[in-house]
Amino acid sequence: MKAAVLHGPRDLRVETAPAPEPAAGEVAVRVGMAGLCGTDYRIWTGDRPVHYPLVLGHEFVGTVTSVGDGVSRVRVGDRVAVEPNYSCGACPLCREGNRNLCLSRIAVGIDVDGCFAEVVRVPQRCCWPAPAGVADEELMVTEPLAVVVRAVARSAVAHDESAAVVGGGTLGLLALQVLRGRGARVLVVSRSSRRFALARELGAEATQAVDDGPLEATARAFSGREGVDVVVETAGTAEAVAHALALVRPGGRVVLTGLPHEPTPVAFFSVVRREVTIAGSMIYQDEFPEAMRLVAAGTVRTGPLITHRFALDAIGEAFAAHRAPESIKVALVPR
Ligand SMILES: [Zn+2]
Ligand SMILES: [Zn+2]
Repeated sequence: MKAAVLHGPRDLRVETAPAPEPAAGEVAVRVGMAGLCGTDYRIWTGDRPVHYPLVLGHEFVGTVTSVGDGVSRVRVGDRVAVEPNYSCGACPLCREGNRNLCLSRIAVGIDVDGCFAEVVRVPQRCCWPAPAGVADEELMVTEPLAVVVRAVARSAVAHDESAAVVGGGTLGLLALQVLRGRGARVLVVSRSSRRFALARELGAEATQAVDDGPLEATARAFSGREGVDVVVETAGTAEAVAHALALVRPGGRVVLTGLPHEPTPVAFFSVVRREVTIAGSMIYQDEFPEAMRLVAAGTVRTGPLITHRFALDAIGEAFAAHRAPESIKVALVPR
């Protein structure tokens, strides 16, 4: 099979390798379509260190081609979305139901070989059966969608509440739709207005670029009160955290799902005085079925987010396209 192997920063080579053989409890999945994200980009540039050689990629949908001993969850021929993180299952965090927080968690495409290949090997418990009649293209973003399904659940948003999404990338445009699906009215706030037409098409009631005026005033006008009830932050920058806190009303909730890599100053005076609840939301653990259900039901439209498609051989172009201003989600189609 072909695989894109990273040998060092920016040293990515498409090579022929033996197809991975599933061990006991594992399955081999032929990749139908894979998505590229900011994490892949940071690994590719060397910003995020990994052990080389490594096959990157963790967002994908595919078909089971072989199964190891003891596999009962899926069968050969099943189409699956793959949850690309698995925990130890034995530590106190795992046992109490916090698998996503397990300190021994293994990430496919980061700690072990991932999906920028024709075939990838994963534990059977990572596989979630895909609904029939929903195209690979629509299910490819199940992984980032599961991230925001969890974040929105943690916001405990109620019908008719006002919500703001900070960030207009893949996660932001998905969060917007999940919030809409829960009956919230949604304001999208982003550094650039480039995605605002699409955001409105996907259900945003209002949009604002951060430089277009004070966010507090926009949040008050949009909510008809002291600020929005709920903010879901998806941009993962210190600036975005500040924006989230500017938008939320006293007594409101902020859920952070982006990972700010730099130190993030927070005015805790205003957090305490306004009794704002700030919650982190880390990936997912049981959200894949719900994410696929939302796509199958048409509550979340994923097709408009896929702006580029490349064959595996053109993976270098895919990484370049990821950085292009007009790109949202770049897809790889291994064959
Ligand atoms: Zn990702
Ligand atoms: Zn664990």
